[in-house]
Amino acid sequence: MDRRQFTKTSALALAATPLRSFAQAPGPQKPVGFAAVGLGSISDIFMRACANSQTAKITALVTGHPAEKGSKYAAMYGIPQTSIYTYEQYERLADNKDVDAVYIGLPNSMHCEYTVRAARIGKHVLCEKPMAVSSAECRTMIQECRTANVKLMIAYRVHYDPTWQQAMQIIDSGGIGDIQSFQGGFFNQQRAGTWRLSRKLGGGGSVLDLGIYPLNAIRHLTREEPTSFTAVVSTRDFSGRFAEVEQSVEWTMKLPSGIIASCGCSYGQIAPGFLTINGDKGYLQMQPAFLYDGVHMVGRVNGQPIDVLGTGKSPFQFALEAEHFADCIRQNKRPESPGEEGLKDMLAIEAIYKAGGTPIA
Ligand code: NAD
Repeated sequence: MDRRQFTKTSALALAATPLRSFAQAPGPQKPVGFAAVGLGSISDIFMRACANSQTAKITALVTGHPAEKGSKYAAMYGIPQTSIYTYEQYERLADNKDVDAVYIGLPNSMHCEYTVRAARIGKHVLCEKPMAVSSAECRTMIQECRTANVKLMIAYRVHYDPTWQQAMQIIDSGGIGDIQSFQGGFFNQQRAGTWRLSRKLGGGGSVLDLGIYPLNAIRHLTREEPTSFTAVVSTRDFSGRFAEVEQSVEWTMKLPSGIIASCGCSYGQIAPGFLTINGDKGYLQMQPAFLYDGVHMVGRVNGQPIDVLGTGKSPFQFALEAEHFADCIRQNKRPESPGEEGLKDMLAIEAIYKAGGTPIA
């Protein structure tokens, strides 16, 4: 079944699929157990983060390569061989009492399917960004997790970075006055052949993967939802790399208060990720803004210069993120970055693509 069919039929299928169990919180002393789903680069970092955590622990692995990658990570993190699963064996996680939640580190177009399948076996879901590849899929994920009474969080790691939290406090306390404008961008180079350049797996190009950072930043920092969009989508590398997805996008958004946001992203540029947020009394600038550590923030706040260099070392953002989700499961709290946050980004991404003349849906 392809992704679209899966989304369309999942609500109907749920009615016919008995729920195995409702998720439980682990006992008071026990860390929340995560199954890492997809053992690629981001899961590698997430697993390292959990290795030093008191409250989040990797207790199972789901991989297409159980003998190689599965055994390697099982040995590193003390996971029994019986807790290594293939994608086809995913539903067997239901019977593993050490697994409370899944961490989904798969290509974008697989997020919806593996979230829904986890919900149906009563496991909480921490899903990587972008939440999915369409707003319809995001809605399906939210509905399925709600029906199964499991928590759904999207892995917006910078929300948990203290430097970002300080930026939020400065803005909320009026330290830069009323925000007038925002600029932000995130860029890298993608080599030919990666799943990120496949429409089927990536769902789209640099906006879904990188543009989502400045997009989420302005939404997160202002708590406003953009209402109007202009966009230019462009590819200037004709080597064949970008046969299926776009290379670069620059776009503007207007927020309800009148804030103008100008953002950019590209799969063909080497440049630092940055953001600038200008108020009528001061400003904040972050560069690098979106890296795993070393976020650097300068600005003029309450009339004074500030210069803040994040001191945490990678993978500390992932540890804070995992521990936040573990706490939500234990305390039955709503995550700070729930599925609804991912849906709002996806709605804006669809509007950006539409404004640029390349709808993704
Ligand atoms: P990756 O290519 O390193 O890992 C993907 C994993 O999925 C691999 O283990 C691969 O074997 C597995 N997989 C299963 N089926 C696959 C298929 N059909 N095609 C390709 N791979 C398949 O990718 P990644 O960089 O770890 O990205 C995974 C997800 O994490 C993406 O959604 C990405 O946007 C997200 N991500 C988030 C951050 C962040 O900072 N939060 C950073 C990087 C990636």
